[in-house]
Amino acid sequence: MSLLEFDVIKQYFSKISQSASTSNISLAIGDDAAIVSIPDNMELVICTDTLNEGIHFPVGTLAYDIAYKALMVNLSDIASMGAVPQWFTLNISLPEIKTTWLEEFSKGLADLAGKYDINLIGGDTTRGPMSITITIAGHVKCNSGLKRSAAKVGDKIYVSGCTGEAAYGLACLTGSVPLKCEDHEFVSRLNRPTARVELGIGLLDVANACIDISDGLLADISHIAEASHCGIQLYLDKIPTPKINDMKQAQQYALSGGDDYELVFTVAEKNQQALNNLIKDLDFDITCIGEVVEQTGVRLLDVDNNLVNLDILGYQHFS
Ligand code: ADP
Ligand code: MG
Repeated sequence: MSLLEFDVIKQYFSKISQSASTSNISLAIGDDAAIVSIPDNMELVICTDTLNEGIHFPVGTLAYDIAYKALMVNLSDIASMGAVPQWFTLNISLPEIKTTWLEEFSKGLADLAGKYDINLIGGDTTRGPMSITITIAGHVKCNSGLKRSAAKVGDKIYVSGCTGEAAYGLACLTGSVPLKCEDHEFVSRLNRPTARVELGIGLLDVANACIDISDGLLADISHIAEASHCGIQLYLDKIPTPKINDMKQAQQYALSGGDDYELVFTVAEKNQQALNNLIKDLDFDITCIGEVVEQTGVRLLDVDNNLVNLDILGYQHFS
């Protein structure tokens, strides 16, 4: 490691390692490795995600937003398991050291880490094309983590918030749809997504299966169907869509647009009341969009219960 990299770590990243109140970290940034402990009767939930410039975020995205998104997409995976986030590591590759960029980046990271009360415990700093990898860990009570594989025939399927808004935001940015003032909220859905961490934790005793939506509602819901060896039936008119004029386009984005980081989960009849209790105080919607059925695969039905042809909907185009 060069002196320059040492300075970068010291100046921009070390302080994020002292922000959280957890007592589970014995050693963070500064040694060859970090040392953490896991409370009794808890399991560690670990995931990692990489964002590459030009692939996972457009060239020119603000440094603050890159950091925010890099951490948030990882928080979303933790949320989908129902875990409580604890700490994370940061591997960052940069073509050059620009202090204003690093200042903004570390601010985005520190703000979000503070919001979720989590610590940066280590990482690696290298030169190369811009790439950010965050690895995050959370805690969940032994054998209680939410999985894709636990959906049961008869469960109702729910989605949080609205899907397709981030993809519409990307279309605004890339010029494939004309950007109007009111579309900026879609762009911020792309750059500053919100992981549903509290919802995930609340769903531990309520939901059977759960997944977060990174690739698109249909694509991600099909992972639940496959892992749970069952089928999924969705009702097109029930699916929340971005508020844009063209209804058909709105449905395409809702079904196939990625990057929203909402949760899709399945709930058994016996837990409906528990779900109602859980969601009554949320400041975003939870919508029932379908049910788990025996016949495998994912099917979409229109308001007359006719099968919707996914090709006609432009699903291929967006997938
Ligand atoms: P080593 O040479 O032993 O791999 P490094 O010089 O890469 O150690 O890192 C020194 C310390 O700084 C380690 O504790 C490491 O975890 C931490 N670190 C390096 N880069 C980052 C980063 N981008 N974010 C947080 N911590 C980092
Ligand atoms: Mg190293």
